[in-house]
Amino acid sequence: MWDRLLYGGRVITENGVLPRGYVAIHGGRIVSLGEDWSTVEAKDCFDVSGFIVSPGFIDMHTHGIFDVDFVEGDTESIASGLSHYLSFGVTRVVASTISRPLPETVEQIRQLRQVKESRYGRILHGVHLEGPWLSPRCRGGHPLRYLRVPSKEDVAFVLGEVGDVLVTVTFAPELPNAVWLTETLACRGIIPVIGHTEASYEQAEQVIRAGARHVTHMYDGTLGYRENPNEALVMLPGVETAVLFYDTVSIELIGCPVHVPPPFFGFIHKVKPRGKKVLVTDSLVGAGMPEGTILTYRDGRKVRVTQNVIRMIDDDPAIDGNLTGSGVTMNVALRRLKEFAGIPLEEAVAWGTINPASVLGIDKEVGSIAVGKQADLVVIDDDFHVQYTFLAGSLVFHKS
Ligand SMILES: [Zn+2]
Ligand SMILES: [Zn+2]
Repeated sequence: MWDRLLYGGRVITENGVLPRGYVAIHGGRIVSLGEDWSTVEAKDCFDVSGFIVSPGFIDMHTHGIFDVDFVEGDTESIASGLSHYLSFGVTRVVASTISRPLPETVEQIRQLRQVKESRYGRILHGVHLEGPWLSPRCRGGHPLRYLRVPSKEDVAFVLGEVGDVLVTVTFAPELPNAVWLTETLACRGIIPVIGHTEASYEQAEQVIRAGARHVTHMYDGTLGYRENPNEALVMLPGVETAVLFYDTVSIELIGCPVHVPPPFFGFIHKVKPRGKKVLVTDSLVGAGMPEGTILTYRDGRKVRVTQNVIRMIDDDPAIDGNLTGSGVTMNVALRRLKEFAGIPLEEAVAWGTINPASVLGIDKEVGSIAVGKQADLVVIDDDFHVQYTFLAGSLVFHKS
């Protein structure tokens, strides 16, 4: 007698889609799956006919959601708000920082470390250090005054204090010490990530050879080509060519057409090998809130949530309406990817499940529906509306 049985739904398994299948769960793990559940016995049975059973979504780049703020929130508010991710089908996240004075960033990461001990702390896989080692020209929302070069002292400070919770570090390959930083991170088991950069092909290639193997929000803050100053209209290859050329490098895209024009989704799907394309939200506090919600940040700035992006509200017309960040949630991002790239359901879902799991090196445990794996599952309809979310076999969200 198993703990739980989900039956009748379209099940996206590691080995293809079962049009009408079942998944049995026991002790928090997937213990059986297939097409005939007539002899399967379980204490709790869920008829999910007409719905899709997907692996739980993994968002490896998010700064917050709803009223949860990984950048400014305290341990308690983050811990109590993590459940918002579950309501959008997300069962694992990597919390992203933004550029701040390094001691403040380190203190924030310490708070995030404590969150891992909380009720839903298992959702939090670790921390993505985004900034301060970024290109000034490609900094996006990162304040110029906090940007730095990766000095050996700063890197030693960060790794010494919070290296145990860092899983990814984004930096610009053209900065001094970038190759050394890449090797240092790789040796610590932290993934070196290229991003917010105007690196040349050669600079990008050097850090790839040194162990960099992922790109932060490609096409946002990654300058592709430059004109050769000596030869009219001759283009020089840049970071884009290098990260597309090397198959070891995975690429992430924000699932939002304002940040990533739709043709890029199909393009990356076509040119990058299986497992090397990842969808993220890069979402901020406010993501997932109802259309038109107005929020006031701690510094007094007002923003509005609209069409899954977050825009400024200001008396000054030059500032009013400006984009401050992404407000998309993973389920909406995946639906858009499927539409924009024109790809089958299971290929789109892979971008938000097994692919990030394998980039993060947690694919033996989570990321797909396979016997023996942790039962992190999400039940969605054809429009990716979340009906149920299961975390390690426990029902943690259901649509009211
Ligand atoms: Zn960024
Ligand atoms: Zn970010």
